[in-house]
Amino acid sequence: MYGQMMQQPLLISSLIVHAERHHGDREVVSRRVEGDIHRTTYKQIAQRARQVAQALANLGVCLGDRVATLAWNGYRHMELYYGVSGSGAVLHTVNPRLHPDQIVYIADHAEDQAMFFDLTFWPLIQAVAGRTKTVKHWVAMCDRAHLPADAAKLPGLLCYEDLLAAQDGRYAWPEFEENTASSLCYTSGTTGNPKGVLYSHRSTVLHTLAAALPDCLGVGATDCVLPVVPMFHVNSWGIVYLAPMTGAKLVLPGPGLDGKSLYELFESEGVTVSAGVPTVWQGLLAYVDANGLKFSTMRRSAIGGSACPPAMIRKFLDDYGVRVIHAWGMTEMSPIGTAAAFKVQHVTQTAEQRLAVMATQGRAVYGVDMKIVGEDGKELPWDGQASGDLLVRGPWILSRYFKDEGGNPLVPDADGHGWFPTGDVAKISPEGYMIITDRSKDVIKSGGEWIGSIDLENIAMAHPAVAMAACIAAKHPKWDERPLLVVMKKPGAEVTKEDLLAFFEGKIAKWWTPDDVVFVDAIPLGATGKMQKNKLRDQFREYTLPTA
Ligand code: ADP
Repeated sequence: MYGQMMQQPLLISSLIVHAERHHGDREVVSRRVEGDIHRTTYKQIAQRARQVAQALANLGVCLGDRVATLAWNGYRHMELYYGVSGSGAVLHTVNPRLHPDQIVYIADHAEDQAMFFDLTFWPLIQAVAGRTKTVKHWVAMCDRAHLPADAAKLPGLLCYEDLLAAQDGRYAWPEFEENTASSLCYTSGTTGNPKGVLYSHRSTVLHTLAAALPDCLGVGATDCVLPVVPMFHVNSWGIVYLAPMTGAKLVLPGPGLDGKSLYELFESEGVTVSAGVPTVWQGLLAYVDANGLKFSTMRRSAIGGSACPPAMIRKFLDDYGVRVIHAWGMTEMSPIGTAAAFKVQHVTQTAEQRLAVMATQGRAVYGVDMKIVGEDGKELPWDGQASGDLLVRGPWILSRYFKDEGGNPLVPDADGHGWFPTGDVAKISPEGYMIITDRSKDVIKSGGEWIGSIDLENIAMAHPAVAMAACIAAKHPKWDERPLLVVMKKPGAEVTKEDLLAFFEGKIAKWWTPDDVVFVDAIPLGATGKMQKNKLRDQFREYTLPTA
């Protein structure tokens, strides 16, 4: 017997339709690449998204065609999010921090038909335009007055505002099957070529519902959300969908991701919730600290993408009254998998005990299931001790990469269900809180035992003189590998190797202590702001440890 409820496909267009009708006057504020602050509303965004859809149809873009963007967080990019996906085409957000060769590779692989770009990326566009195979339309996201002076270098270059001005916005969002592809995002490809993750309308809407829940990002209509995480990094973790769904005000920081620019927006717009990777918050905290400032409206910040050092969680809470929501996920998971929200037993615990909960990567959000397995593939207990490969499944988790790149990635279980192997190594507490100890390729294997590099980095990051720390495996004749700590000091701070090694005493098993410390001017960061430990491993491949 079937239930007798209405059949309505879960489509991305429904989010902006809802916002237009129920939160039409709610503001969307953007720092533009033109340099000014721009204000609009959900009502206007919805209207202009329909104009985008009309313009795409006029350019010959059809259902399922890929349309690329190279853009910061801003209202025009948001109009494209809805205009492209809403019309049934696929929004391909390209990470502009990738190498031009990689951009050409993924534009060709995706078979992008059009590329919309912010003016900042005009030099990059010139470097790739002659090389891509399928892009027919290049669109500068600006008005005619702001077109680059040398626009003639790219014959046929279109102007976004001209395209929209030619449409009347009288357009009805098409209805199609909810499993239709909506957007495409490539993994950063630290190993091999980037692989495409193709989201659907259904997976996106379900992920958005889960992300908004109180124990996840916890966003409602009275909130003001500022995603620092870029719209080219896993759809800004869903925030560009979540804000219209909930009616929250949305603040888009454009290219201004330095501490000062962000802080000014937080204060002037009354931001209550934000989200980003740890390296960005470091810049913001350094600025706020140095200038003796406070956050007057900020209450929560979601931090993930790489491990958030407990010292940062403590600082946010103790010094600024901001609660960190430590979250974990990946491009293949839309991205959210877990968030570190309390359970009832934590409410009455001491501050230290609660901090320990907040420092974990969190517990599974409804919709995501997870398990850890040993080398034999058998499930390991949730005892907070056993650590193994982390596998996940759920309706917003990838089943295959775009164009079947790499074959079937799923690992079947006894019931025939497929699990996605995350490449992370984790343990899970009896209460269901997951702790990532490493990425499998970053694990340090000392005498056959694993040392978790993230633990060591977290300790080093708590030292007042340390700005950033990476722990990598260095070759050792007896133990195969031993930990080498690579440290970037805070400007003007002094600390010796001996001081730092002493700092580990009593915090970990003695044999986990790094064998050596090297100080560097900078630690390489990847396209999504994460430490590139593979580059460091290359750099220190021939390093001789003093213990060797
Ligand atoms: P990539 O870094 O390959 O571009 P993602 O941005 O999808 O891909 O990153 C996913 C990976 O980032 C996870 O598999 C995990 O290793 C790491 N990660 C994400 N969040 C956290 C976190 N809170 N703590 C530790 N590692 C994290």
